[in-house]
Amino acid sequence: MLKKYLNSSMLSLWHQIIDDAQNIILIGHSSPDGDAMGATLAMFHYLKALKKSPVVIMPNTFPDFLCWIPGSQEVLNVQHNYDKAWRIFQKADAVICLDFSAYNRIDEMNQWLDESRRPRIIIDHHLNPELNADLLVSDPQACSTSEIVYCLLTQLGYDNLMTKECAMCIYCGMMTDTGGFIYNSNRPEIYYIISQLLEKGIDKDKIYRNVYNNYSVNRMRLMGYILNEKMVYLEEYKTSYFSITRDEMLRFHFKKGDAEGLVNLPLSIKGSILSVSLREDSEKELIRLSLRSVGEFPCNKMAAEYFNGGGHLNAAGGTLYCTMEEAIAIVNKAIKDYAPLLKDNKC
Ligand code: 5GP
Ligand code: MN
Repeated sequence: MLKKYLNSSMLSLWHQIIDDAQNIILIGHSSPDGDAMGATLAMFHYLKALKKSPVVIMPNTFPDFLCWIPGSQEVLNVQHNYDKAWRIFQKADAVICLDFSAYNRIDEMNQWLDESRRPRIIIDHHLNPELNADLLVSDPQACSTSEIVYCLLTQLGYDNLMTKECAMCIYCGMMTDTGGFIYNSNRPEIYYIISQLLEKGIDKDKIYRNVYNNYSVNRMRLMGYILNEKMVYLEEYKTSYFSITRDEMLRFHFKKGDAEGLVNLPLSIKGSILSVSLREDSEKELIRLSLRSVGEFPCNKMAAEYFNGGGHLNAAGGTLYCTMEEAIAIVNKAIKDYAPLLKDNKC
């Protein structure tokens, strides 16, 4: 039932790279989400079981609500620990990149990868991988990179040995990339994998609470404020958008991760098709956009055409280098240009 991602030549390449390597670096994308953390740490637990010395390096910090993931406390972060991360990266015998395959997803680590001559494996579920790899495992149909990792580890014979910790990581990635199994989650294989993870003793209800019922009071109030005062709903286009400025972030004592999931909320409006959020970056002069849709509306296409970004059909992101007012004007233009898909959508 599960996909076998490695054909025989890929399998021998996998062994050639991993069997010979001791120091293996695992990299996830900037602003790591549940899938980036889950997939890298699942692989981390597997490699430890093989008596390797894996190290997970992320470009920056992960949000607090992921601190329960087994192994997360050992994750190195380039923003806080540049020298140590660089030293360790240089000693790598092999590098595995998980949950990204585009150049702009790892900040300054892009240059590290560019200059590295170490064997490189990429495991990802985003469309159109850009980065070069000695071995590319890419499946845009997978609900998450963590799902691909589960299938790979099973193919590599680890399923019987898989620890509860590793299973928790995989479940976290699958759950968060499907918004708690409410989108991109209709393939039966997903539930077969979950049944196997439950056999490992994971407490899926607790994982859900850890991720989704873990708001600070400030975050809850920010959510209310956005829905009440900031959300614009364009009835004609069945689309909503909202913005968050730096001042508003200060007012609500914004912490990294507090914006996570907010963009999904307007999709609960009956008949709603598209939701867009715009957030001023807390450090750099740029606006981060997130897009979520229901049905066939292509968020990734809109993100690539208008917001210098990309992603998946129902979840994408991008960046604009302008003022918030200008960004909102671009969002309005994008929505109007996509009117045919929004007005006649019968999802
Ligand atoms: P989020 O809204 O959570 O930041 O991102 C949603 C999805 O879009 C994620 O799967 C992420 O990988 C993808 N994504 C976000 N920003 C970008 C971007 O700038 N470029 C590309 N190619 N994908 C992005
Ligand atoms: Mn992912």
